Amino acid sequence: MVDCSRCGLKPSYYARRYSGENLCAGCFEETTVDKVRRTISKYGMLRHGEKVGVAVSGGKDSLSLLKILHGLSVGPGSGTKYELVALTVDEGVAGYRDEAIEHARALCGELGVELVLVSYSELFGFSLDQALDWKDGRELSSCSMCGVFRRRAIDEAAAKAKVDVVATAHNLDDYVQTFMMNLLHGDVERLSWLDPSTYDDDFPVRRVKPLTEVYEEEVALYAFLSKIPFQSASCPYMHEGLRSEVRDYLNELEAKHPGMKNTLLKSSLSLTSKLKQFKPKEKMLCFKCGGISSSEVCGVCRMKELVAEHTGFGAK
Ligand code: SF4
Ligand code: ZN
Repeated sequence: MVDCSRCGLKPSYYARRYSGENLCAGCFEETTVDKVRRTISKYGMLRHGEKVGVAVSGGKDSLSLLKILHGLSVGPGSGTKYELVALTVDEGVAGYRDEAIEHARALCGELGVELVLVSYSELFGFSLDQALDWKDGRELSSCSMCGVFRRRAIDEAAAKAKVDVVATAHNLDDYVQTFMMNLLHGDVERLSWLDPSTYDDDFPVRRVKPLTEVYEEEVALYAFLSKIPFQSASCPYMHEGLRSEVRDYLNELEAKHPGMKNTLLKSSLSLTSKLKQFKPKEKMLCFKCGGISSSEVCGVCRMKELVAEHTGFGAK
């Protein structure tokens, strides 16, 4: 058995192929947390004294993020002190969301973090089950519809909790998959949105992604080693289509050429920062709800109309 290449004291537990390191469990956890610390500092994601809302779904990524940010804020030698609050959205998916919310509550209870919960029913007048209860002729995938509502729900939770910044748990794999998806869809404008730290006025509060530089498999291993119970079942409406093919392709490339995802991340970050200079700045307010929008009526209001038209839910 190989010894840990970092401490040299314990047997190796994890082979980090892209760096050539063999790490014991303790060194794996330390280096993962350290990577998040460096990402936060590199992009100036969090500032001393801020109230940070962590978007917590109850899955491995968001619970790991909450635990890591909590450790960085209260742990020994933590330079930046901030207050954490978990922002959780109940989309209203019977038999699925309840378990995830329980996991979120449990970790928040353990860490002493407040949890602010908002639901689609309370915000939009329908649950996701009700909104999707129409099958024929739907042009949009479930996740495209749900994603529009989810972003607004997080904004509402952030306003309710009065946070300065929202941290989301997108990991390196999410990031490079989205980059590839945008390329494959020819969606150049969206490439400029892929910023680990969004300061512009697309959102009412700043958005940051502290796990941008952590591989998904390493987030999963961190959750496992930290004994964080999380929901592993997928949402019954999840339909990934092209994304799962992109994921498989990137995983194959990584297996043959360790570090390929890291390289792709660097390329996409560099391209994003260049494209941001050309980003159109004009934003307006939706005349129906007052939310930030790129057209007179925002995506949320348009989607609500579509749901009302087909299901009667949420109709005024
Ligand atoms: Fe919504 Fe898709 Fe997430 Fe399910 S998987 S909660 S439909 S975005
Ligand atoms: Zn609107």
